[in-house]
Amino acid sequence: MKAQWKGKRVLVLGAARSGIAAATYLSGVDAVVTMNAGTEPSSEERTKIEQLGIKSVFGDHPLDLLDDTDVIVKNPGIPYHIPLLQAAMERDIPIYTEVELAYMATDASFVGITGSNGKTTTTTLVHELLQGGDRPVHVAGNIGFPAIEVAGRAMPDDIIVIELSSFQLMGVETFHPKAAALLNLSEAHLDYHGDFDSYADAKANLFRNMTPSDRVVVKGADLEVMKRVPDTLQASTFGYDAGDAYVQDGWITVHGDKVLPVADLALGGAHNVENVLAALLLIEPFNIPRDHIEHVLRTFGGVAHRTENVGHVLGRRVYNDSKATNNVATEAALAGFDSPIVWLCGGLERGADLSSLVPAMSRVKAVIAYGETAERFKTLGESQGLPAFAVETLEEAVPLAFEQSAEEDVILLSPACASWDQYKTFEERGTHFVDLVRSIEEAKR
Ligand code: ADP
Repeated sequence: MKAQWKGKRVLVLGAARSGIAAATYLSGVDAVVTMNAGTEPSSEERTKIEQLGIKSVFGDHPLDLLDDTDVIVKNPGIPYHIPLLQAAMERDIPIYTEVELAYMATDASFVGITGSNGKTTTTTLVHELLQGGDRPVHVAGNIGFPAIEVAGRAMPDDIIVIELSSFQLMGVETFHPKAAALLNLSEAHLDYHGDFDSYADAKANLFRNMTPSDRVVVKGADLEVMKRVPDTLQASTFGYDAGDAYVQDGWITVHGDKVLPVADLALGGAHNVENVLAALLLIEPFNIPRDHIEHVLRTFGGVAHRTENVGHVLGRRVYNDSKATNNVATEAALAGFDSPIVWLCGGLERGADLSSLVPAMSRVKAVIAYGETAERFKTLGESQGLPAFAVETLEEAVPLAFEQSAEEDVILLSPACASWDQYKTFEERGTHFVDLVRSIEEAKR
């Protein structure tokens, strides 16, 4: 354990799963914890907080909380511009996010993965690959358990693979992964960060404490990524066409070593080949047996809601890519098919420019848009001479997708928007989509 918390007065901001995990850890190491959240927690969360026996304040962020605070640990989603955090910064009260807390809690080695797209897929893949080695390995972040929970029980020789968002990386001070990847950078979360540079710079915080003996993995062809690699570090690059890991004569090749033909990968799509290349560079320093690597690459078919194959339904090939919440993710999904696509899209309006989707739309035969952005996607479809529809909800969109498609066509939900106009999470949206598809299948039996 790198930090001493005994007697420190810590204000935990946010009462969701990771906030409760942070408060649990901090209470266990004898910090004096106060929990504060702007909204009331659910009854289940409230019970857990009460069991901790800590002070809690809900519904507001009163500034006088700072009078009794040495350190703040904040949920990554809470923006720095709220008055409480502004006042804390004026008073030089340190503000950590969970990843910094987790790092300070353990001597285990971290493997960190960030980027605009591909984080969860690559994190899951790296976790599976590292399981073939001698060292116990855990996964933390979006998948698996909150980072502080994992770090609190990890032993010094363990490895923690962690998916890192730009929000988490903003609160990094000492976090120093042994291996880290910045997969790619494109516009995302601009509502939080304000502009592309502050978003991209937050991601590049990943490298802040790394040294030349660590493994730094980046996409060589992504100039925004490359310009954020500190000069002091020797980066390993990946890319479909070129890099330390790339595809040579149809083979996944790492430092000249042919690992497996691309055709044998269980994962589909060029974007996933890039995720595989990055994962192999990340695990290279950990001496994983070759037969385990080959086995994982032949069997790991991806994570639910990420171009997930829902199966053949009434002759259509149906895919759930609910996790595609921005243009780049949807472009990758649209470009991954060689059959006509009936494309379901739309969701939360964030003012993104949709025109970058046009080059990826060559196989789209109809656009079915729903949610806040429905009209804008309809206009996009019409601008390409395609049949295009704007409806309110997925309940209307899914039957329309079956009407507009023929046998062997692809029906793809790849929204290019966040789900929060109608759903709590992208998982809820993807599950709703799959349920609607299944009910159409049932009705036709
Ligand atoms: P993240 O965790 O960064 O959101 P995921 O692994 O969950 O990424 O994938 C989300 C979606 O992003 C996928 O469904 C796919 O459409 C797209 N995607 C995945 N990997 C990449 C990549 N390397 N480049 C571009 N798009 C990608």
